[in-house]
Amino acid sequence: MTSYPNMLAPLDLGFTTLKNRVLMGSMHTNLEETGDWNRVAEFYATRARGGVALMVTGGMAPNREGGVFPGASGLFTDQDIANHRIVTDRVHDADGKIAMQILHAGRYAYGKECVGPSPIKSPISPFPPKELDEDGIEKQISDMVTAAKRAQEAGYDGVEVMGSEGYFINQFLVTHTNKRTDRWGGAYENRMRLPVEIVRRVREAVGPEFIVIYRLSMIDLVPNGSTHDEVVQLAQAIEGAGATIINTGIGWHEARIPTIATSVPRAAFAWVTKKLMGKVGIPIITSNRINTPEVAEQVLAEGCADMVSMARPFLADPHFVAKAMAGKAAQIAPCIACNQACLDHTFQMKISSCLVNPKACFETELKTEQTDNAKRVAVVGAGPAGLSTAITAAERGHHVTLFDRADEIGGQLNMAKQVPGKEEFWGLVDWYRTMLAETGVTVALGKEVTADDLDGFDEVVIATGVIPRDPGIPGQDGDNVLGYIDVLRGKASVGEKVAVVGAGGIGFDVSEYLVHEGESPTENLPEWMTEWGITDPADQRSGLSPDGPQPTPPARQVTLLQRKAEKPGKRLGKTTGWIHRMSLMMKDVQMKGGVNYERIDADGLHISYGEGRERPEVIACDTVVLCAGQVSDRSLADALEAKGVPCHVIGGADVAAELDAKRAIDQGTRLAAEL
Ligand code: NAP
Ligand code: SF4
Repeated sequence: MTSYPNMLAPLDLGFTTLKNRVLMGSMHTNLEETGDWNRVAEFYATRARGGVALMVTGGMAPNREGGVFPGASGLFTDQDIANHRIVTDRVHDADGKIAMQILHAGRYAYGKECVGPSPIKSPISPFPPKELDEDGIEKQISDMVTAAKRAQEAGYDGVEVMGSEGYFINQFLVTHTNKRTDRWGGAYENRMRLPVEIVRRVREAVGPEFIVIYRLSMIDLVPNGSTHDEVVQLAQAIEGAGATIINTGIGWHEARIPTIATSVPRAAFAWVTKKLMGKVGIPIITSNRINTPEVAEQVLAEGCADMVSMARPFLADPHFVAKAMAGKAAQIAPCIACNQACLDHTFQMKISSCLVNPKACFETELKTEQTDNAKRVAVVGAGPAGLSTAITAAERGHHVTLFDRADEIGGQLNMAKQVPGKEEFWGLVDWYRTMLAETGVTVALGKEVTADDLDGFDEVVIATGVIPRDPGIPGQDGDNVLGYIDVLRGKASVGEKVAVVGAGGIGFDVSEYLVHEGESPTENLPEWMTEWGITDPADQRSGLSPDGPQPTPPARQVTLLQRKAEKPGKRLGKTTGWIHRMSLMMKDVQMKGGVNYERIDADGLHISYGEGRERPEVIACDTVVLCAGQVSDRSLADALEAKGVPCHVIGGADVAAELDAKRAIDQGTRLAAEL
């Protein structure tokens, strides 16, 4: 008897059966743009082997004007069809199913040729779209139908018509972006004509035995979006037009409400999908922040949907479903929803990967095969760099001992997990603990290792991490000054008014920690929705509360400072930095850039501005918290070097500047692949 009877139940679509209720949602990885179709095929085939029922590719452009960026992939030529055939064949060989997403970006297309229902520029693009005339609209429909036919020729099991997230089709649906007065604008019947026509003509073109998924925006989260009644009306018309499945889209890309970030509660929007259940006869998929089999099972058991879509969790662990089926859910590498190696990379035009699993999208390059030369490997430091080295080396067959002076594994991950909105880090540390046991790593905690202790090992890996940088501010030795470690470990009491020195990732985290008290909103869905101003789209168009965001008052008055004369938080994650900034602004955190730290005394933190040390000011506070970055802890590496013992130095012990878990885990995994 499985623990996940709903998630693992097959789904009969009439002409074909999905082997379980799990869809791998569309993700743009930038892999197609490499032109290495073997690599693309291996990415999807690996996930097919991992047991997922159906996968949706990254968005493929139906034409040049609809591409998300210039040169975006699509099925334009016979060669394109042949390339995609490599992918579909490999997936089918692995007993998988795959649908191609047709993504027309409309006004989100990054280029002067972009088109839309009305010439209204999006706040997240510099290009106003050209307003389409009747012929132009006909061309877009026909290009999408052609894309579907070509997908069928290329061997796909279906297509997904992208109708949500604020892209082209979504832009026609709502008056926020559609100001037309012809038969494509005005009344809702007119505005929904485009998606219905596309689905109807796609179905006509591909015949009855081809999966057609329509991704429907169930809560737009932008002004003048759809009402719930309109969503239902559209869903029923889409069913009538011949769709096989309806998938859920949540929020437009330009919405200023987080929808997939780590601070979003798990399955936060499943209730929105549930509202559509029973209103149509075809299966409905729910999505967003579902990242464990338990959450997926619960969502399905509660009748929120017929299927679940997970995307990033399949970067973190391609074998998600297979492990759940085998009763090994604790071994599923968790997606912590950080976006750091996936979406942030996509937007930087880099290949996507995963912070937790650097092999994602690098399947053909980063291989961790069994060794035929098992060695005794010592890894010192049980933070992310050391942990990833230890489990990867042990998986390969090496005999690994992992040392740490602390009594617990996790290193800086243990601080991150204390921050409200970063609760996913608990699961990551738990997963490492499981994998250390599973791979047979000998763990020696609470032991300060010296160079002499490392005699007899064939390989020594130093992952001793970082120590806080000393900012050298006069008065920093006072009782009113704390380091971030003491604060985040809950060991120090912090006053009502606080100045935080340093606005990097940790300065932001510490500020977030200090302005909250009690239960984290990430653990309390109603509170989180109130904080961000989300409500039921049946009560308010778009699901936007008329009262706007209603954060609870801050637990402390915090001022966050940096010396650089730029916007604090500018260097945080590309797709999540705005959330961290907005979250602190909602808690009235004052942010100041371009400051000099003059001294700290009983009055607080004395600062001035600019090179001329002008405008002296006192940040009156009870506590100053130092978050001034870090420097490498190389003491053990240096001692080994002095002894003439070769070692590998990785993670923060190697380079502390802008160290984060992504680089640490990547470096650790790559080193272990080569030992
Ligand atoms: P960081 O990002 O390098 O930031 C250090 C901060 O200290 C900066 O604001 C810097 O700004 C300031 N600083 C540097 N030298 C200073 C000095 N001598 N005196 C006073 N201030 C000084 O380091 P971190 O905040 O410790 O974070 C470590 C790493 O973890 C980073 O890579 C960070 O991105 C990552 N992290 C990421 C997240 C996330 O949410 N993605 C969260 C936590 C940590 P000025 O030089 O302008 O003063
Ligand atoms: Fe999930 Fe972060 Fe990996 Fe992206 S990088 S898949 S968000 S863990």
